[in-house]
Amino acid sequence: MSRSVVASSPTLTLADGQTAPQMGLGVWQTPADLTAEVVRAAFETGYRLVDTAAAYENEAGVGEAVRASGIARTDVFVTTKLWNTHHAYDEALRAFDKSLQRLRMDYVDLYLIHWPVPTQDLYIDAWRALVRLQEEGRARSIGVCNFMVEHLRRIIGETGVIPVVNQVELHPQFQQTELRSFHASRGIVTQSWSPLGQGRLLKHPELARIAARHGKTPAQAIIRWHLDSGLMVFPKSIRPERLAENFEVFDFRLDDEDLAAIAKLDHPAGRIGSDPLTFR
Ligand code: NAD
Repeated sequence: MSRSVVASSPTLTLADGQTAPQMGLGVWQTPADLTAEVVRAAFETGYRLVDTAAAYENEAGVGEAVRASGIARTDVFVTTKLWNTHHAYDEALRAFDKSLQRLRMDYVDLYLIHWPVPTQDLYIDAWRALVRLQEEGRARSIGVCNFMVEHLRRIIGETGVIPVVNQVELHPQFQQTELRSFHASRGIVTQSWSPLGQGRLLKHPELARIAARHGKTPAQAIIRWHLDSGLMVFPKSIRPERLAENFEVFDFRLDDEDLAAIAKLDHPAGRIGSDPLTFR
């Protein structure tokens, strides 16, 4: 009996030399009791990157799926995140230990500060803790989420360590072009959260038109836009058929006309999620 060959994501190399799949699965709002099953289905489809967080309360399910998969630990890329209430240095180290315990892993591939919480002003402390975790080899790569240029400049200025990733809200209606050019100047890879606009962009007529031109679904066209833009992307779904649909994006590319049309969808008021300046 022949085994079906699963597709695999292209990879990106981070500034610290580690490689990561460019496309994966996000598990925000995936219920804890379904997470292991959803991640298992994703692995079967060919996914090898999972983006979780302490705040998602489903790290245990991610770890369980990795162990049950039979895939070598080194062939899976697991990201988790430090929550806002644990930015103080010792607190951050303890929070990381708890994440590893829930994952039942001895390292994560990428550990991120979840939000800068500038009103609390402890993200420098948190960043120093992540630097130590990377030195200890327990967080292979370290980065941040939702940092604006001013926050990035500050952690780089005060510690000399540049995050390899900044994970921010990013989709065709909120393209973050200025932030991305700052990232490019510092070798920071941009990860797109809510890449499908939490599903709201799937009915956008322009995106539907572009998808139809390629014989693809709107979700596939949008994911392809992230990939063609050099972004890392991990759309969320709990449905096996959508996990498969979202992963069938490696056999086409958008052309210049598509990219020009999508560039026009960017909007200053296109943000869906929270504002990093005020979110706590
Ligand atoms: P998303 O843009 O991935 O959209 C998910 C929604 O789209 C779900 O409701 C799903 O049912 C629907 N969907 C997915 N594929 C579909 C398809 N093929 N057809 C129809 N509907 C489909 O939104 P998200 O979950 O907010 O973002 C993805 C991931 O980004 C999260 O799971 C999480 O890992 C990460 N994230 C990080 C932060 C952060 O602050 N760092 C914030 C939000 C999300």
